Amino acid sequence: MAPDRPPVAAPLRPRALSGIQPTAGSFHLGNYLGAIRQYVALQETHDAFYMVVDLHAITVPQDPAELRANTRLAAAQLLAAGLDPERCTLFIQSHVPEHAQLGWVMNCLTGFGEASRMTQFKDKSAKQGADRATVGLFTYPVLQVADILLYQADAVPVGEDQRQHIELTRDLAERFNTRFGDTFTIPAPHIVKEVAKIYDLQDPAIKMSKSASTPKGLINLLDEPKTTAKKVKSAVTDTDTVIRFDPVDKPGVSNLLTIYSTLTGKAIADLEKEYEGRMYGALKTDLAEVMVEFVTPFRTRTQEYLDDPGTLDSILAKGAEKARAVAAETLATTFDRMGFLPAKH
Ligand code: ATP
Ligand code: MG
Repeated sequence: MAPDRPPVAAPLRPRALSGIQPTAGSFHLGNYLGAIRQYVALQETHDAFYMVVDLHAITVPQDPAELRANTRLAAAQLLAAGLDPERCTLFIQSHVPEHAQLGWVMNCLTGFGEASRMTQFKDKSAKQGADRATVGLFTYPVLQVADILLYQADAVPVGEDQRQHIELTRDLAERFNTRFGDTFTIPAPHIVKEVAKIYDLQDPAIKMSKSASTPKGLINLLDEPKTTAKKVKSAVTDTDTVIRFDPVDKPGVSNLLTIYSTLTGKAIADLEKEYEGRMYGALKTDLAEVMVEFVTPFRTRTQEYLDDPGTLDSILAKGAEKARAVAAETLATTFDRMGFLPAKH
């Protein structure tokens, strides 16, 4: 007889789970405002799991030495941004083999047409040329489903571009639960509207992105502070001179106001008053200063973690151990519910 496993034990606090790719040396301002700030906040209220998603990174070609360095750098930046290993679980995705294992199960529950509708895949494969896109890139949203469901996550802090993938996660969790019995928590996206999409500073019609932005439009948190200041000062605005929050008619200025407001905690309405009758240059100069004040200590803290690889490794080892305990339990229940013959040891 198959062992009668109890349902996966519910944690005391709601669970949060999210991941970030180690595909570039530095995180950018969109990653920070849209996602990482929420990771930091949710440590206070949730049993939070955050990971550097190296399995997702290889959906596009990676140089092995660079990938290894960028994975460490990503973990160091998450700590520098405020993740506290005493209050959350920080780990590297490939250290927990259950991700790939549950990923396969989820692939087998996903319709081909359903996966074909994922807009992130369509955008990314179009960028590379459809012939060069890998099957891994096609199924990466399904691996993301497994990432989330393994931890029975309630909340998934992400930017707006990830909403469709969370919808897919909910659909697949419900499908599995209906077919095989209640197994997975149905997660909800945790998207903070104001910062869900930070725009490119040179092209406020597109989101700031590691892969789509030009260097001038992309604020990398690890850039030299003077480069950051220069990028802010040369941000594209529009031809009139009024500093007003109007994302439709004034997307460039509105993006700057959003960034300014989030980094300083000042309300946008107050900023509009403060800059009434003043020129864009004044706003940009002040924002450049705010940015420099933000990135300077962030760079220092990141470097401190990189200079102490022993501490970083031990944080990641403990994180992987904690993550595996949860992931292994969910995977065992899943395999059992699907009818896999248990291995005898
Ligand atoms: P890529 O273009 O390679 O997908 P990315 O810049 O989107 O890279 P990711 O690692 O895919 O970076 O995203 C990490 C997190 O940052 C995700 O939760 C994503 O939604 C969020 N994010 C990325 N860009 C932005 C943005 N411009 N505004 C708000 N959130 C963002
Ligand atoms: Mg992305």
